[in-house]
Amino acid sequence: MIESPLLPHIGAYIAGKWSQAASGRTLPVHNPASGEHLADVPDMAGEETTAAIEAAARAVDQEVAAAERAGWLRGIHDLLLEHRQEMARIITLEQGKPLKESVVEVEYAAGFFRFYGEQLSALAPRILPEPIRGAQWTIHHRPAGVVGLITPWNFPLAMLAKKLAPALGAGCGVVAKPAELTPLTAIALCHLAERAGVPAGRLNLVIGHAAPIGETLCAHPAVRLISFTGSTEVGRILMQNCAPGLKRLALELGGNAPFLVFADADLEAAADALMANKFRCAGQTCVCANRVLVQHEVADRFAEMMAERVGKLRVGNGLDPQTDIGPLINRAGVEKVSRHVQDALDRGARRIVGNEPREGGGTFYPPTVLTGVTPEMLVSREETFGPVVAIGAFDSEDQAIALANGTPFGLAAYVFTRDAERAERLASRLVFGHVGLNTGSGPTPEAPFGGMKQSGFGREGGVEGLLEFCETQTLVRA
Ligand code: NAP
Repeated sequence: MIESPLLPHIGAYIAGKWSQAASGRTLPVHNPASGEHLADVPDMAGEETTAAIEAAARAVDQEVAAAERAGWLRGIHDLLLEHRQEMARIITLEQGKPLKESVVEVEYAAGFFRFYGEQLSALAPRILPEPIRGAQWTIHHRPAGVVGLITPWNFPLAMLAKKLAPALGAGCGVVAKPAELTPLTAIALCHLAERAGVPAGRLNLVIGHAAPIGETLCAHPAVRLISFTGSTEVGRILMQNCAPGLKRLALELGGNAPFLVFADADLEAAADALMANKFRCAGQTCVCANRVLVQHEVADRFAEMMAERVGKLRVGNGLDPQTDIGPLINRAGVEKVSRHVQDALDRGARRIVGNEPREGGGTFYPPTVLTGVTPEMLVSREETFGPVVAIGAFDSEDQAIALANGTPFGLAAYVFTRDAERAERLASRLVFGHVGLNTGSGPTPEAPFGGMKQSGFGREGGVEGLLEFCETQTLVRA
């Protein structure tokens, strides 16, 4: 069982109280690397979610000055950095990623609290410079009110921080629901928020089965916005459930990122960038390259460069400092990756690095490189969410763009070329919310990030991410 100074209570957090499910039911949390039973968390449903929404609504009624809200954010930032090693250990224990990556996740998450703590002046009312129709016009950014935050297991801290920092900063009341597989990090974050002085009811954490919690959040009239990160499939369910009340949504959904390498690119730099981009969190990230598309004349050379690098990766328990790749989150994750790889092999791809996962080998999947990948293969059509580099080829710039855009998703894309004009041309024609030119970098707190097409709508990060949690109100004063 897990013991941590950041987990003095293992429970939900509602109206400033640590609590268990009314039914007494619990859900187990396991370490995906070892199967070890880490904790039992409450298995809550509609009743507790309603209580959390009501607590958040009461909190929102108590207006708090921006300077005080900024103080909460700074406090959480400082506590996260002070406890980064312990927070990282909790992430690794329940999520599996290497400890060094968990530390980076804590620092990245802390960055959202720092950034939004410094940005609340963006909410100051804006007075139009000239009277219009003899009246003075002022634009206010009011807090959206009670908001529901639903987050996935791949970045249990960062995905919540991206939403929680702007929501608290904007003056909202929060009901958060973490993934069932990784609730302990969210519990530890609530503990730190409590220590940072966030008042009772401002932040509530409900843990349990997703459907009844989600349905209550979507149906309750006091909830004004649902901000969700997760699969496109669940995003669609939330949209349907929010339709009757015309509730606002911000959806950060799945991706299918193309990674385009042109023959004139710095291939060594592209290969290094792909390693960093692809293998973070064992390839279970929404922004990681899913389709590596390389111009024909350099495709074999680039595949060899990747094979050499991928062959050196060490797979193991994330707590071991030697580990580069931890386990996948669960058996279902391993089965999905195996199905994708087998489908590619059956359709003519070659596996130049990697093996079948070992029988009885837990949820570890061997890092893999496939070549000869074509658009009809599952690895091209769906997010694989595993440590598989799937390499296909293209001839011309037009074909590269058509292949890259040939997906219903539009989250992240990457382009490697030394031709600056081509890079600009591609950026304007790629239908993706995040485009990396000669870099595999993902998002940062300072800039907006989000999807196009079926990768969702709404932005996190930047001032745009703060305005998501506001309603614009125009005051006309005669
Ligand atoms: P998921 O199955 O959609 O789950 C995400 C969250 O939604 C979890 O908290 C889950 O709860 C909850 N959920 C599931 N069914 C629900 C329902 N009917 N109503 C309300 N909530 C519900 O996704 P995942 O497998 O955890 O995460 C992987 C996906 O997230 C990938 O597609 C990835 O690309 C995407 N992702 C996107 C971004 C981005 O910024 N665009 C970032 C990270 C991940 P339970 O855990 O209890 O089922």
